[in-house]
Amino acid sequence: MSVTEVRHPLIQHKLSYLRDRDTPTVHFRKLVEEVTLLLTYEATKDLPTEDVEIRTPLELAPAPRIQGKKEPVEYYVKLPQDVADRDVILLDPMLATGNSTAHAVKLVKDAGASSIRLISIIAAPEGVENIQSAHPDVQIVVAAIDRALNERGYIVPGLGDAGDRLYGTK
Ligand code: URA
Repeated sequence: MSVTEVRHPLIQHKLSYLRDRDTPTVHFRKLVEEVTLLLTYEATKDLPTEDVEIRTPLELAPAPRIQGKKEPVEYYVKLPQDVADRDVILLDPMLATGNSTAHAVKLVKDAGASSIRLISIIAAPEGVENIQSAHPDVQIVVAAIDRALNERGYIVPGLGDAGDRLYGTK
């Protein structure tokens, strides 16, 4: 059998903390979990997927309708002084229209960043197109590109409102 040594920077970075004798137990435990998950990703990449039937929250409770295009609102912006020298990873769990994310990319670019990646769990084709046309240099990494946005701005099939699902607020 072959041996695969996963030299991915994220794994190697976490491995260095695992090796460090000064890493506290609580961090060590979390790191073991994280490195195992990342190795599982590699170990299972050839496995076939199967179709499963599920019901998404949108089928159960429609959300209020969105009126027209809204300008992104900046709630809080705090970037490191040396952002221009860093590799920036932006996280947007649901890349829907992409308007807010395109704005966030512009903010970090205006601050000098030139190496920018975007990680989203689920994207709508509209959101991907928006980012690709506004910021073709940004690498987008997603778990799924779903069918479309609905008239309420939700990704379908999607997973519902990620915030509500995360915090149990609906
Ligand atoms: N934000 C969400 O949480 N879900 C969507 O479907 C779109 C944006």
